[in-house]
Amino acid sequence: MATGRIVIDVDRCKGCELCLEACPQDVINLGDYFNAKGYRPAVLVDPKHECTGCALCAVVCPDGCITVYRDVPAPRATQVREVALA
Ligand code: SF4
Ligand code: SF4
Repeated sequence: MATGRIVIDVDRCKGCELCLEACPQDVINLGDYFNAKGYRPAVLVDPKHECTGCALCAVVCPDGCITVYRDVPAPRATQVREVALA
């Protein structure tokens, strides 16, 4: 399964919880502190690395606070075959 992570701009977050409801992996919670605007911001809590990078959280965020990064698997090593030329 694809894996990813998100970065939340906690200073701009207004704690509306839309991203919490949208996340199919349930890896977003509200923080236990208040940001400069007086809201509890969304935070990624993903100790098992279950975020898939699906970006649903970023799509629903009305303030564009979430940036999504998706892990890209390394390309398989090119197989090298010896061929006799003469
Ligand atoms: S990218 Fe998908 S799985 Fe990851 S936190 Fe956002 S909604 Fe959840
Ligand atoms: S949807 Fe956006 S503004 Fe709302 S809690 Fe999530 S990050 Fe914050």
